[in-house]
Order: sequence, then structure tokens, then C-alpha cells
Amino acid sequence: MAPKRSKAGPANRPTNRPGLIARAHTTRRALRSAGFRFALDGSGRTAIQAERDEFASNMNKDWLPRNLDGSPRQRPNRNPRGIENPFSHCYINAVLQDFMHTPIFLNWIRTHTRDGTCAENCLKCNIKGLVEDYWGPLPPAQPIGETNDYLVGIKTAAWDTSLFLEAFQDDANNFYEFFLFSDEHGLAAGDSEWKREFDAIFGVEIVPFDTCYECGVERMRTVEPTTGLIIPFPPDMPNSLAGAIHHAFAVEQLKEYHCETPSCHRLRRTKYKGHDGPPQSRRKVLRKAPRVLKIRILIGEDGAQYGNKRFDTLAIDEHLDLGQYQESDSAKAPLTYQLSTVVSHSGESLDAGHYIVSVRNPGDRPYYNISDDDWVEPISRQQFTANPQGNRRTESEQFEVYTLTYIMDEHAPAVERPMKRMLKELL
Ligand SMILES: [Zn+2]
Ligand SMILES: [Zn+2]
Repeated sequence: MAPKRSKAGPANRPTNRPGLIARAHTTRRALRSAGFRFALDGSGRTAIQAERDEFASNMNKDWLPRNLDGSPRQRPNRNPRGIENPFSHCYINAVLQDFMHTPIFLNWIRTHTRDGTCAENCLKCNIKGLVEDYWGPLPPAQPIGETNDYLVGIKTAAWDTSLFLEAFQDDANNFYEFFLFSDEHGLAAGDSEWKREFDAIFGVEIVPFDTCYECGVERMRTVEPTTGLIIPFPPDMPNSLAGAIHHAFAVEQLKEYHCETPSCHRLRRTKYKGHDGPPQSRRKVLRKAPRVLKIRILIGEDGAQYGNKRFDTLAIDEHLDLGQYQESDSAKAPLTYQLSTVVSHSGESLDAGHYIVSVRNPGDRPYYNISDDDWVEPISRQQFTANPQGNRRTESEQFEVYTLTYIMDEHAPAVERPMKRMLKELL
């Protein structure tokens, strides 16, 4: 069996190179390379995913109780809480309010305890403190004040990185990165158990496999572990986020590449004079999927982080199924997600304008739209999944969806237990 190749391959292939495809099928190397698949367990998961699932299955995913400290003092309701914005910190507030509505994260950060390894201004301690104030017993109509010690601590840690300036607005995605990619004092830092939990919640691994058109050999490329998906607008503009994700996982044609097989190495000198070598196709496999999936839509023009924003919008899917992007050749493990929060932006440039967040909420009203401290408004499910998002406080503005958080649906692993099988055989 030869490695799979994109259907788009022959069409994109330069026409002055006859025979590239036909030969690829017949080499012995191609046959040898066909075994390049991840080992999968009984429920179709890679070993790395199974380990993470096992780890995450022990983590608490319930919403926090209304009496956080176990005392009889109860929060009067479960409405979201505003966060005061002294001037240009809406990008911070939107991201913090997003995390405040992610139950597995809330439970996890509350397991952090202050000890000798904590920095003086420990980010984890401050986030935990903010969680406990946000969901604490004070009426939610009372926002988190701009002088709240934990909020100030988080912001101080951000200013200390020199990545942000207190007096200037920034891109909300940069604040996510500060949270999720930070250094030894950051959220991911800790003992090996803590790191594995962080990875089980947020870690993503997408493995590229490249197939050479000359020799047919498929090779696994370097994996960059990350904490989310970055989704560009594909050229043909599918009408939904799911379509754009599908495009991002589609087989790509790579023009410049160094194939290492000796025959292709020779061809680089002879046939491909002045070029890198035989063209390749690249397929991408989602080897590790997170409990909390962060998706960033590249709404900056040409994917640029700063500068002008494009105003195209993708329809937002409330449910995503990423099962098809896992390793093929097997019964796939179920991998479905539900939309949890939406951060959207109004304005010409992502480092100016205004950010708001829409969240799923544990109370009687499941969806809310929040703008800093001064606008906490229940919305409909249609409004929650709309793009652009509305905000009644600023009726003339529209907010293009920028980052989204999806929470993995918990599926019982479909392992057939020996007892069950025996019973089946008896019946
Ligand atoms: Zn700490
Ligand atoms: Zn080759």
C-alpha cells in the first residue's frame, strides 16, 4: 500500500515533470514507509491521547459551588461578574472573564497552594484568588474593582514581561499567550504532575507527515506542541468555522523540500538543479487534543497580528467534531466539542478598539454578553453563536469574533470489556 496522496496533487504538480506520481507507487521504499501510523488503543486513541484522557478524567469539571469556601455564605446567584477597566484593559478583562467561565480550569487552578516555590507575585496564586473573588459570595452586581489585589497582581506580572504597556491597549491573543505560554513563573510551570495537568487541559499536538512525490516515502516531521488552533481564512472562504478548520487540516502541496533518500538526494543535483528537490504533500494528524480548545481566527489582514483587521466573518459552530483529523486507519475515538466562550473585537485594529466576551454560564440563564464591568447582559443562544456579535451597550458597533473556547464533550471510552463480550456470546 502506498501512502495516501492528496487528490489535489496531480493538478497542482508542475506539468513539465512527467512520471513523478506513477513512479512513486512502485518503489520498495514506498512499501516500507506505508506502516507509518500511530499505534492506537482499543478505543482508537493514540497512546499520548489515552494518557491525557486518563489524567483529565480524574479532574473536576463541575461548576464551582455557590459557597466556595464551604461556609453557609452563598453567592446570591450565578450571574457573571464585571471587571473594572481603568482605561484600556478591555483585552485583559475579556480574556480573564473567558477563563472564569471554564470549569475544569477553575477547579484546577484552585488546587494550587502557596508554597516556597511560588514567586512573590505568583501568577497562579493571583489567578486562584481572582477565581475565588469572581465566584465568591459578594453579589455579582459588585464588579471586581480595578484595585483588587489579585487583578493588580496578574496585571503587574503582565507589565513585568515588557510585552504589555499599562497605558496602551493590546491584542487579546497576546494576553492569552502570556497566560498559556509563559515562562518559569507562569501558569504552566510547576512539578511534573502540574505540567501534565496543564497539558491535559490545554495541550495540542498536530503532527505533519510529508510524502515525497519521487520516492513515495512518508516522513513524520517535527511537532511543535501548542495550546490551541490558529485558523486562517482559506482562499475560497467557507461559510463556517468548521469549514475553515477542515481547510487548515487539508493535505497541502509543498514545493520546496529536501527529501533525504539517497536517490532523491541525487535527483536534487541532477533533475532539480537550482531547486530544493522533489515536491511533497503534507497531511496533518491531530495526535493530542485538549479538554479546553482555544481557537484563534486570523482576522488580522494577511494574518498580521497588528495593523488593519479584515471584516470578513465566519459562521460560528456551537459544536465541533474533530474526530476526522485524528489518525485514520482505525475506529476513531470520539472527539466533539461544545462552544464555551467567544471573545470578539470592534474596531479597525486588534490593538485598539474594544473587546467583549460572551460566555456560557451555569445559572438559569445560559448565555451572557460581558463588556468590562458596566455591561453584563443575558443573551439568546442565537446571539451567543452570532458573528459578528452584538452588544446592546454600543448598539452602533459590531464585534467580529476573534478567539473562541470549546470544551471537549466527555465520552466514555468505547472499550469492550471481556465480561461484556462473554455475556454477548452467551446471549
Ligand atoms: Zn503560587
Ligand atoms: Zn524522495
